[in-house]
Amino acid sequence: MKGLLTKLYNDKVIKTQIVVDTMFQVDRADFIEKDPYSDDSQYIGFHVVISAPHMHAYALEYLSPALNNFRNFNPKNFRFLDIGSGSGYLTVCLSKLINDQGIVVGIEHIPELFQKGKKNIEKHHKNLLDEKKIVLLNCDGRNGYNQLGPYQLIHVGAAAEKVPKVLVDQLDKGGRMFIPIGLDLDNQWIYIVDKDLNGNVTMKKTISVCYVLLTSKEKQLRGEC
Ligand code: SAH
Repeated sequence: MKGLLTKLYNDKVIKTQIVVDTMFQVDRADFIEKDPYSDDSQYIGFHVVISAPHMHAYALEYLSPALNNFRNFNPKNFRFLDIGSGSGYLTVCLSKLINDQGIVVGIEHIPELFQKGKKNIEKHHKNLLDEKKIVLLNCDGRNGYNQLGPYQLIHVGAAAEKVPKVLVDQLDKGGRMFIPIGLDLDNQWIYIVDKDLNGNVTMKKTISVCYVLLTSKEKQLRGEC
């Protein structure tokens, strides 16, 4: 991981110590067998990939500054949501971002990927599952998970047509969402959605990306993603 993180730092993808410290605690070799330290996305089955390390790093770099809005917050009350948790890599990173203090809900709709993600996490972070600091759900993530919200951070690992209102509603005041938007792979962008302390929502279009789609299980299994 050290060499990979040094590369991402030299490439100016990773800019902050908190992201270095977070990713250093989560060995990508637990989540993908082949070439875990190369900066590429890789196929994990069922027509989807584990995101490239630079995308995981961007997600953490974009999301982590919003934690400053919660400086007086009891860290144990942090609730984060990771929709399309797949391999489980970013789900663990989100927990590490707050030193395993809160609860991260990871949602994956393909049962086999849900099981694989769980097994991957169990290799070195089983305690987080046992202590329910990571809650993995096997269901459709398009409606989020209202029961444990509101969420201070929401990461969406698959692209939607537009920012889903239901997820904005589950974002806490002061919270931030990272979500790829656009069904056309040539025109897909990360949107950063902020909800301020008064509840006003702003959206910013940032980097151009290439994500699989946030879709139904049936469409994904047919390869329409
Ligand atoms: N963030 C993960 C996976 C990225 S790929 C990683 O880096 O490993 C996108 C993931 O979203 C896939 O695992 C796919 O199965 C899942 N997905 C797509 N649509 C979904 C939906 N409606 N509900 C839950 N998960 C979904």
